[in-house]
Amino acid sequence: MSVVTRFPPSPTGFMHIGNARTALFNWLYAKAKGGKFVVRIEDTDRKRHSEEAVQAIMDSLEWLELDYDGEVVSQFSRQDRHREVAEQLLAAGKAYKCYCTPEELDEMRSAAREEGKAVFYDRRWRDRDPADAPKDKPYVVRIKSPTAEENPPNNIMVVLDQVQGTVRVPLEQLDDFIILRSDGTPTYMLAVVVDDHDMSVTHVIRGDDHLNNAFRQNIIYYAMDWKPPTYAHVPLIHGPDGGKFSKRHGATGVHEYKDMGYLPEAVRNYLLRLGWSHGDDEIITTEQAIEWFDLKGIGKSAARFDFEKLENLNAHYINEADPQRLIDLCKPFYKDRHNLDITQEAQKRIIQGSDELKSRAKTLLQFTDESAFYAKTLPLTYDEKAASLITDNKDVLQALLEKINALDTVTADSIQNTCKDVAADMADGKLGKVAMPLRAALTGTTVSPSIFHAAEILEKDETCARIQAAIDHA
Ligand code: GLU
Repeated sequence: MSVVTRFPPSPTGFMHIGNARTALFNWLYAKAKGGKFVVRIEDTDRKRHSEEAVQAIMDSLEWLELDYDGEVVSQFSRQDRHREVAEQLLAAGKAYKCYCTPEELDEMRSAAREEGKAVFYDRRWRDRDPADAPKDKPYVVRIKSPTAEENPPNNIMVVLDQVQGTVRVPLEQLDDFIILRSDGTPTYMLAVVVDDHDMSVTHVIRGDDHLNNAFRQNIIYYAMDWKPPTYAHVPLIHGPDGGKFSKRHGATGVHEYKDMGYLPEAVRNYLLRLGWSHGDDEIITTEQAIEWFDLKGIGKSAARFDFEKLENLNAHYINEADPQRLIDLCKPFYKDRHNLDITQEAQKRIIQGSDELKSRAKTLLQFTDESAFYAKTLPLTYDEKAASLITDNKDVLQALLEKINALDTVTADSIQNTCKDVAADMADGKLGKVAMPLRAALTGTTVSPSIFHAAEILEKDETCARIQAAIDHA
């Protein structure tokens, strides 16, 4: 049977990084096995439903470059099918109608509490004669869970989980849970099983907060005589302090990482390693991951989110990336942060300077900020530090300008030598005292890649024009 994995997010408004990891593991497993990866939106909560929330999830999936097979399935649109299965279970005597009123259920709960017992529905309608059923009264449909009395001596239910191992639950902890509410809507437990079955899902890889659900879901599988999927419940992601990863630790939404200038391949590599390992390998390309991914490599204990590791991976993948792609990805950042459109000329310059820009940048924001000067046109704006460097070194800039004007061609070497000459004359030979004002004049800032190389890329006319403008500004 060919592998089918799934990603069934509830549209909460954004994609949590933990869900992104779940999606990635399912995607990788499908790819590794030559199977399919399907997406289902668990959109049955109509009160809180919004199309934007669904779109936000799809956008993050697209950004992460996790492609899926077939159409996205809406769980809500399958309610008739869920009801049909509930009817089938009723007809087969595997489920029953329960007419308990909310008051009766309350009484049951208080009585159980007083006796110190677990608060469970006491199955009072399970074996009752259907002739006792009150007419025209609301009812829910409950599944008949296997009971300890009916199953001696095997009064346990077992799930063979690919991550957690053999997990056992005593049958008395499994109640006759509701599969159809009194308004006729299916519960999550029923909908998930019917959908996974109908979508031919073979492997369910998800957070271990769903482990308890696996036992209940299997009850439905067995009642329908369907084969349950193989489960792999992955420990949740924790923050650096060991608590469940949440906003107080930092960004939790995939879109936030996009906005902070992370590359999708870096986030994928990071999420892969967060809970899965292949020896000591840290840098694992997606191609390698597809080759290597298996369920055995998933760790049993919760992994801690490490921002520095993610940043280092991002730096690695920026360094590997094609400069043209980086520029394209940075275009919205050039616009938002510097109000710059990238012209052909700017693009040419940035590509020329890209080796150094890439080797310095930990994020696309840094790449943007440190290359923006290539795209700027006169008059530049100067940040505070740059402005005061320019004011304090007007004579140095004047001397530089004269010497550069006299050069035939501007190369990194010729500019460096010129700066050295000026430094010898005016700054006790200290190159930095000349290079820093030059940097301020050419970039408007005090942070940039090698300013000598930058001048070569800007070429003589633009270099001289920027120095002149700085002198005039001072
Ligand atoms: N919709 C559920 C969630 O977002 C997923 C349920 C499942 O994986 O079975 O947590």
